[in-house]
Amino acid sequence: MDHPSIQVLTSLFSQSGRLSANGREEVYDCPMCGGLGKLHFNRAGGKWYCFKEGRGGVLPQMGYSPGSPEITRGRQEVAYYAPDFRRLDDQYHPTQRPFYQYLFSRHCTLEVIRWFRMSYARAGLYKGYVILQVPVGDYFVGRKVLDGPGPKYLNAPLSKRGVICPTFTRPVDEAVIVEGVFDAISVGRVGPAIAILGKTLDHDQRVAIQGLVKSRIILLLDRDAWKEVMLVGGALALFLNVVHSAPPQGKDPGTMELEELKALPWSHCDEHVNWQS
Ligand SMILES: [Zn+2]
Repeated sequence: MDHPSIQVLTSLFSQSGRLSANGREEVYDCPMCGGLGKLHFNRAGGKWYCFKEGRGGVLPQMGYSPGSPEITRGRQEVAYYAPDFRRLDDQYHPTQRPFYQYLFSRHCTLEVIRWFRMSYARAGLYKGYVILQVPVGDYFVGRKVLDGPGPKYLNAPLSKRGVICPTFTRPVDEAVIVEGVFDAISVGRVGPAIAILGKTLDHDQRVAIQGLVKSRIILLLDRDAWKEVMLVGGALALFLNVVHSAPPQGKDPGTMELEELKALPWSHCDEHVNWQS
């Protein structure tokens, strides 16, 4: 039997829960007593309590050893108050509908949803955001889906140094470099893509790209980013063959049509390398 903290965390991930009458706690079926008791969880203090068993505890905020994705996710959730991640998965549920609608409009298939271990938040700081976890490391991107206050993107409160977001894991000959993760998802329909999560490239990101791309880069930043194109392109050109491209007028890589993406200056394009681990 797992440690109670792990069981409590698992419940937070796997159940939909509800708010208590006073609105201060979340209520789940207790994992320790077979769903017969109610598990109350106070997110602000990390405290949990089962009324049937008359026992409770406090989730250790940073005490987990890294490794298992569940623990990583739990740590993000508890430590950053990125509350109430609901995983998007193959089990379509009506409450997930706005999220699926948004994701499908951004060319996310279930394969892509799984690739980025997507989830969504229905409460707390990240309420109304879809969370996309980068394939390696703890960094995640939050994209607002529902109307409401807050910025369009709310990413992990972690350093972005060295973080890239590729659509593939095995080294390829050629890949497209884009700014945002949804740009990469869009381009990923026709060939390998890497998002650098912005318009700049740090040293560690450049090293990571070098580890994934063997010979050729197609640089496809947004149309307004010509200065950054020179800087990013220049840094990559020291090590790789760099070809510059740009989205058509009025578009960005995330809104380009399939035919427009296929018309990029690929030496060959291979969609089959995407979404493979
Ligand atoms: Zn219980």
